[in-house]
Amino acid sequence: MTQIRVYDTPRRQKVDFEPLEPGKVRMYSCGPTVWDYAHIGNFRAFLFPDVLKRYLQYAGFEVEHVMNLTDVDDRIVNQVNERGTDIDTYVQTYIDGFFDDLDRLGIQRADRYPRATEHVGEMVELIERLVEQGAAYERGGSVYFAIQSFASYGQFAHLDLTGMQDGVRIDSDKYDKEHVRDFVLWKAWTEADGNVSWPSPFGRGRPGWHLECSCMSMKYLGNTFDIHTGGVDLIFPHHQNEIAQSEASTHQPFVRYWMHNEFVNIDGTGMSKSEGNNVRLQDIGDDETIQSYRYLVVTSHYRTILNFTDEALNAARSARRRLNRFAERLAAAADDPGAVAASDGTGGWSQRVQTAERDFRIALDDDLNTPRAMAAVFGLVGEAEKSLSAEDLVPVDARAILSFFEAADGVLGFLAERDAANLETSVELTPEQRQRLDQRQAAREQKDWARSDELRDQLAAEGIVVTDGPDGQQWSMG
Ligand code: AMP
Ligand code: ZN
Repeated sequence: MTQIRVYDTPRRQKVDFEPLEPGKVRMYSCGPTVWDYAHIGNFRAFLFPDVLKRYLQYAGFEVEHVMNLTDVDDRIVNQVNERGTDIDTYVQTYIDGFFDDLDRLGIQRADRYPRATEHVGEMVELIERLVEQGAAYERGGSVYFAIQSFASYGQFAHLDLTGMQDGVRIDSDKYDKEHVRDFVLWKAWTEADGNVSWPSPFGRGRPGWHLECSCMSMKYLGNTFDIHTGGVDLIFPHHQNEIAQSEASTHQPFVRYWMHNEFVNIDGTGMSKSEGNNVRLQDIGDDETIQSYRYLVVTSHYRTILNFTDEALNAARSARRRLNRFAERLAAAADDPGAVAASDGTGGWSQRVQTAERDFRIALDDDLNTPRAMAAVFGLVGEAEKSLSAEDLVPVDARAILSFFEAADGVLGFLAERDAANLETSVELTPEQRQRLDQRQAAREQKDWARSDELRDQLAAEGIVVTDGPDGQQWSMG
């Protein structure tokens, strides 16, 4: 076992990872703003914590994961008022869409998805604490965080704040480094807010965006927790502001490790509505394409910009198909008693599996290096494919490889569910039938269509229906 190291944004280097409580990791991820459907870039920010969590579980940790749903912001308020509806009705479509897309991408659910609008009372309490501590002040019914009161403000994002004017305020949630200001915690109601507002000791209004993540993360994970994730665009001001709000109110360190994923670009340009390339997951294709997108994202290192192109997606698709085909052949070989006599399982496979497992683990321990982990998987796949084709892989070895393969899939998620179902039901086939399926696969690879048809007919006669799809051959009990 090697030491897990992660790249911590404020320290700008990889550091040893130790959770606050041994054996348990508490993690918070900034979730979607449900004013519209999430685009494929957003899903990188949800796939990254999915893989991080699966890996930490693989490494033996219990993980508690919370992701917020931002269901009140300027855009939502505008839409709600324009359509004459209410927040709950408006955002439900996008919340449903978000969960559907998570499922399509095979993203495991977080333990909680708290909604901002369900925590307004707690946010008001947090603001009151900040006011009491002298970290926030009221102006015209709005409340602002006084950044001068927080000595380390700016350090997280490595900003130079010398010469900055005291008490200059900004009301919008999103702004850039050029506009470092006292930021808003509570926005006084204006006409543009229509009927969206909550009561507070400062008057009617609504909470600022940065506040919700401080409030909900600490509520569910404690004042200090282990990992906070989000896209790189959130480093400033969002995460800087979360730190200021949280630490100024608790006087305790807020987050131990900050991990940020890089962006997805499309054909070299950033994704935005104005560029017209704000692509939704379901726009990129069928389920297999969506799974290929997952594969593309999770096998790219999370700290490198990912350029989404047709070529990249197609390469991911074929790599994934190969892995799925391999898993089927392996499962058949693992259950094939006919092959036992060929060898006693001393072909060096147990050593090779151990080496692959070690390389896989070392790669992920090193700041979640998924491309290197995948290379370790492919190293073994390449060797085992040769052995499968030569029909000299004995069941005990096939099972050892399969068990590593399934553990790797548990972290990265590259096996299709359909194939997983096939793997499970493969026990219902007789060894002869499995052998015939394998032989048919081999015949197809050699373009021996006559032999392939002959085997399919034999299987059909026994009630096994074989079809050839984009993932290779599939079978079902007819
Ligand atoms: P939003 O719904 O705008 O609050 O964004 C949700 C998450 O998606 C945040 O963590 C963003 O940092 C992240 N994000 C936004 N655009 C991209 C992109 N093009 N690539 C990767 N992550 C993104
Ligand atoms: Zn957030």
